[in-house]
Amino acid sequence: MTFNDDANYSGKGVRKSGRRTGLAVGGGGIGLVAIVLLSQLLGVDLTGLVGGGTGTSSQGESTGLTNCETGADANADAECRVGLTSDSLEDYWAEQAPAMGISYASPLIILFSDGVDTGCGSATSAVGPFYCPADQQIYLDVAFYDTLRSQFGATAGPLSQLYVVGHEWGHHIQNLAGTFATADTSQTGRTSDAVRLEVQADCFAGAWLASATETTDADGDRLLEPITDAQIADALNAASAIGDDRIQEKTQGQVNPETWTHGSSEMRQRWFQTGYTNGAEACDTFAVADAEL
Ligand SMILES: [Zn+2]
Repeated sequence: MTFNDDANYSGKGVRKSGRRTGLAVGGGGIGLVAIVLLSQLLGVDLTGLVGGGTGTSSQGESTGLTNCETGADANADAECRVGLTSDSLEDYWAEQAPAMGISYASPLIILFSDGVDTGCGSATSAVGPFYCPADQQIYLDVAFYDTLRSQFGATAGPLSQLYVVGHEWGHHIQNLAGTFATADTSQTGRTSDAVRLEVQADCFAGAWLASATETTDADGDRLLEPITDAQIADALNAASAIGDDRIQEKTQGQVNPETWTHGSSEMRQRWFQTGYTNGAEACDTFAVADAEL
């Protein structure tokens, strides 16, 4: 259990896309190599962000989350879990972002299956969850959690699912903070700005989770149950599973730090822990020396 059974979902923050694009790749059977290859072809990052775009997107007929009213529903259903996760992230960042001098605006999470049109272009589920700065929306196919298990060998329990959403929300905070505008994402490598962006998003996810048990619904009821050490281990396991070195070992049989875009398993876990222990103010990954990154 992650959520307080009695918490109420606001009904906001998450929409389900009504469109399935012709680009769709059949779910389940796609291999890791194909995922990475597709990511490169489309110019996007696995659990990353997509640049460019026109700032408009067509979702077709989108709907709110049906069958999602309470924390009990969120404990039973992956899409409803995204709904209450959004409520908790909104409660945390609406206060935390201004405290860091960032003018806050809410993102929207779009749940989709197979494929989706975004303000950054069309994408399939194969690219993994991502954030589009142009339309300030997070795109997520909850089938990715199965991919985390089957292709990345992660436990992918409920808290690691929250971590994934918290990471993408972290990219939204970076967008609001103007960090994207100043970062040079043309380079790859262990100390590149691309990696600094990604581990900062991990750090923001950790910072939120440390405070998430204090976030509440409109009635003042807490949204989450206290987080256990086993659940934190589950989130760290996911962060480790999507480290560049781990993925390169699996797909290429060797590790090449010069091409890293997201950071190693160790870096991703460590920055998550930094946020969890010290809060979002400790997440300035652009200020630390290369050796400390
Ligand atoms: Zn990312």
